[in-house]
Amino acid sequence: MKKVKPEPFKIKMVEPISKISRKKREEALKRAGYNLFSLNSDEVYIDLLTDSGTGAMSDNQWAGIMSGDESYAGSNNFHNLSNTVKEVFDYDYTIPTHQGRGAEQVLFPILLDEGQFAISNMHFDTTKAHVELSKGRAVNLVIDESRDTSKYHPFKGNLDLEKTKEFINEKGADNIGFIIITITCNSAGGQPVSMKNIKETSKLAKKYGIKVFMDAARFAENAYFIKQREDGYENKTIKEIVKEMFSYAEGFTMSAKKDGIVNMGGIIGIKNNKELYTKARSRVVPLEGFPTYGGLSGRDMEALARGLKEGIDFDYLDYRIGQVKYLGEKLKEAEIPIQEPVGGHAVFVNAGKMLPHIPYDQFPAQVLGNALYLESGVRGVEVGSLLLGRDPETKENLKSPLELLRLTIPRRVYTNNHMDVVAKGLIKVKDKVDQLKGLEFTYEPEVLRHFTARLKPIKE
Ligand SMILES: *Cc1c(COP(=O)(O)O)cnc(C)c1O
Repeated sequence: MKKVKPEPFKIKMVEPISKISRKKREEALKRAGYNLFSLNSDEVYIDLLTDSGTGAMSDNQWAGIMSGDESYAGSNNFHNLSNTVKEVFDYDYTIPTHQGRGAEQVLFPILLDEGQFAISNMHFDTTKAHVELSKGRAVNLVIDESRDTSKYHPFKGNLDLEKTKEFINEKGADNIGFIIITITCNSAGGQPVSMKNIKETSKLAKKYGIKVFMDAARFAENAYFIKQREDGYENKTIKEIVKEMFSYAEGFTMSAKKDGIVNMGGIIGIKNNKELYTKARSRVVPLEGFPTYGGLSGRDMEALARGLKEGIDFDYLDYRIGQVKYLGEKLKEAEIPIQEPVGGHAVFVNAGKMLPHIPYDQFPAQVLGNALYLESGVRGVEVGSLLLGRDPETKENLKSPLELLRLTIPRRVYTNNHMDVVAKGLIKVKDKVDQLKGLEFTYEPEVLRHFTARLKPIKE
């Protein structure tokens, strides 16, 4: 038996879930146009669509909800949140926003002039979108190792410093708006960025007079990986590691729906640049709300202040990352190809490898996701060519370098018994993959097609 970290909590409240029959699942999937996004949640048994806003709050957070101070200006909960940001990140200025993209829409237009580049290890979708809405251009310069799913590298989220230097020299430092480091690197599979890489990025940026920001959604998981994998950090606390990570940046945008363990919320954090803070504060009013609430209720800010502290607790992180790893190892034992090492918030199954008979433009990862749903009521999400879309000019289907099925684990929600159900389901699917058929569109929206597309299995 594998050693498994027990949950560092006991359960005070439960939410019943149940599995509908296979026949009902077949009907549901057909009605949903073979698109898992179109299922109703009560048609899903174990929901691994996303870890965003799907976590379970603690009794302490729920108690915070009851002490919401809903004053329009200067709420106590805002002060508590701002003091927590000071304590955890050592940043002077906090602006709440309704979620991560709210922070992006407020901050990016201040940082980017038309045509300037934003450099990142990898931009998250909304981050890229807000760079482009600010008339900037998003460039991803993650290390090449991140693209090889079977090769071990402890920090696959690292920014490629050589490429970054070359890029800055080629375009000119004046044409770079900012560097934003995504921690952990979501789009590369929740892969961490090392302290060394963060520090060297900051040094390089300073040399050219470029500002560094963090896309901080999974900052605590990143700190945990640094403690586990980077020399010199094994005896530091998560808190110390977080403080050091953020000392190398000027500010952050954060989706608090991940490591903040709340269902909705975001933050702009600014270290000590008062001018930048003043600009962001005036932009937040028309976009999100008055600067002491920025789109959040007082009670939500209180839950977030408490969640930020719980998110950096070592025992919690050890259990959390341990659970993701537990699922990854179960799949590996069954010789299901996954991205390695397993990241912080999800296991990525390499559907391209598992279903080699299905071409990329028949969406193998979507086929696998649907088969897993039919088998066991588990909902994952496709991260591959369906998500990628078409070339804007030629209208050809773009071929994603990887066809992945992401199994994203919500925080403190499911037990390892649930993980066993997921693994068992995939193992069953593996035994009959050659019977699975590709998919074709019956309706294809022009933008962000994966959310609302309708498909059907291809008949031979
Ligand atoms: C979720 C996420 C965002 C966007 O945040 P929302 O709260 O969904 O608006 C931005 N960056 C990263 C890395 C994320 O994971």
